[in-house]
Amino acid sequence: MIKSRKIRFASLGSGSKGNATLVSCGETHLLIDCGFAMKETTRRLQRLGVEPAELTAVLITHEHGDHIGGAGALVRRYQLPLYTTNGTKISGRFNGEVPDWRAINPEHSFAVKDLEVWPVTVPHDAREPVQFVISDGANRLGVLTDLGSITPHVVRHFQSCQALVLEANHDPDMLARGPYPVSLKRRVGGDFGHLSNQQAADFLTQIETDKLSHLVASHLSEQNNDPYLACSAFAKAVNTTPDWITLANQEEGFGWRDIQA
Ligand SMILES: [Zn+2]
Ligand SMILES: [Zn+2]
Repeated sequence: MIKSRKIRFASLGSGSKGNATLVSCGETHLLIDCGFAMKETTRRLQRLGVEPAELTAVLITHEHGDHIGGAGALVRRYQLPLYTTNGTKISGRFNGEVPDWRAINPEHSFAVKDLEVWPVTVPHDAREPVQFVISDGANRLGVLTDLGSITPHVVRHFQSCQALVLEANHDPDMLARGPYPVSLKRRVGGDFGHLSNQQAADFLTQIETDKLSHLVASHLSEQNNDPYLACSAFAKAVNTTPDWITLANQEEGFGWRDIQA
């Protein structure tokens, strides 16, 4: 009998106030980042039909609060394995003990039950930040947010994904005119900050997108971006219309998307 493979993914919410992406394959449920408090994480997981106790593991990309805010409490309450780089571990941003910490070595893949995870180093102002390509052996999902620039290394690793959750943080004009203090504008727009719509769109023209069946614009700044600008930039880069692009927002994230072999 041929085992039917299917990766499903959804978002609990995405943006500067909190991020969490759920990736499932059969009974394997990985939570990538946990930027919401435990009660809120639970509510958002249940909205997607998953109980926190059903999670297989929590994987963290880096130690910024919008990614680890609720992780410590969640893994302690449900005794879940927590995967982070050593840099993230020693950042001191986890409050309290982590019962089952497992090391991520950037550029070394590892398996968590039915899924294989490739951690990819990205330029971002954290201790040892990574983003992930996740595969069930047949299909690949790329999760790529929180990076200030696109490196050849990133381009090499995110080729030929069937689904991509990609940062579209800001529109440079809106950032320049917006309310942020100068130092924060410089940080967000810098090489170790966040991708603009156009930087992300340029990245899409550098990778193989023929197999792409889901493209998500994520980690949008509520103050410095407009969803239509982000989706239009992505659509133009992959030769489609803006309504084909999925938008991940802060309140709702987005519902389940299936990648089928
Ligand atoms: Zn972030
Ligand atoms: Zn960050």
